[in-house]
Amino acid sequence: MNFESIDTQYDIKRPNNTILKSSILKYRSGRPKIKDEQTYTLYLFPATSTIQLWIRTTGCSYSQKGSCSMCDYWIGEHLAAPHSVVYDALAPYKGMYQTLILNTCGSPLDENELSLSEQALIWQTINAMGFSVVIIETHAYSVTPEKLSVLQKHINAYLVIEMGLESSNSDVLFYCLNKPVSLELIQKKIELIHDYDFGACVNILLGSPFLAIKDRIDDCINSIHDVLNAGTDTCVIFPVNIKEYTLVHHLYINGLYQPVMGRELVDVLSSFSEYELSKINIAWIKPHKQMNSAYANPIIAPYFCPKCEQPFFDLLDKYLATYDGSKRLSLVKQMDIVTQCCKSTLQYLLQNDKTTQEYVSLGYSFLSTDNNQKGKD
Ligand code: SF4
Ligand SMILES: [Zn+2]
Repeated sequence: MNFESIDTQYDIKRPNNTILKSSILKYRSGRPKIKDEQTYTLYLFPATSTIQLWIRTTGCSYSQKGSCSMCDYWIGEHLAAPHSVVYDALAPYKGMYQTLILNTCGSPLDENELSLSEQALIWQTINAMGFSVVIIETHAYSVTPEKLSVLQKHINAYLVIEMGLESSNSDVLFYCLNKPVSLELIQKKIELIHDYDFGACVNILLGSPFLAIKDRIDDCINSIHDVLNAGTDTCVIFPVNIKEYTLVHHLYINGLYQPVMGRELVDVLSSFSEYELSKINIAWIKPHKQMNSAYANPIIAPYFCPKCEQPFFDLLDKYLATYDGSKRLSLVKQMDIVTQCCKSTLQYLLQNDKTTQEYVSLGYSFLSTDNNQKGKD
């Protein structure tokens, strides 16, 4: 991958990718706020005894600065008493599930979204619900000794801090995602998290924009190797779901982004050993209903052909229900077998795909024209 030619063409100077930033902000600017009555959203996963709770906040600090071309975690009004919302959401399930995953519109540990005192009240509320594992999904910059100490003080469950890296390749982070994070930062945060005896988990993207399909698969594989080597306890693969109000969505509707084919994930998983697979989880591969009632359009999930889809999902459920690497390896081999026809389709797509150089050149040219055009509107 060589992105240097676009630096001069579009006057891009690190650390600011002005063209991605302004495009991301422009596409995001049309987002409606979450409706007042939607204070939380709850997903139940009985097969893995997991509850995922999202609570409304004002929005991710980085989203508001024009980061992350693939992301929309919504914006809304601040809740008057966030811990009461957490209580109302979780109390009906008290003692029934082992694991809680907590999300906000960005990062629960970011004081722009939840003050330290609000965080402390939330941790107390969660602690009373009897979970054995609590996973907090948050930006790496929000992971500090102060926040981890507050968590440790209030929560008795095993704590896992989940952070988004997306890619260990600094060019992909800068030219494709505009995400201000790095493998080096994540490694330092993993060490800090381990100082508190918490678990560390790192999220990796499959389907980065501006990359050829082959390159985005390789980037996902390389990034997983890198974060495992950096000492993370687990990682989670997030295949891109195409969401309204994102730069990825605009590339997609203009024929400049190929949605992720589910078979790409099988290729990724097939390149790991049983030990590595025991540490690799998967999120957002199945279709999700649009949960934001202020939004009109559905999320576009990764796709399979109708023949491969259900057999793959059956194996995926078994994969996620165990952490045993040898069982996972055997399930990945079966995934490979039941998705043979999608494997052929993916081969065809790979042979007829544009190169990364072409995606970058066409994509940046489109964004530049679209920015100028919209400026005149
Ligand atoms: S990926 Fe994370 S840091 Fe980036 S905009 Fe989304 S919530 Fe914020
Ligand atoms: Zn198929």
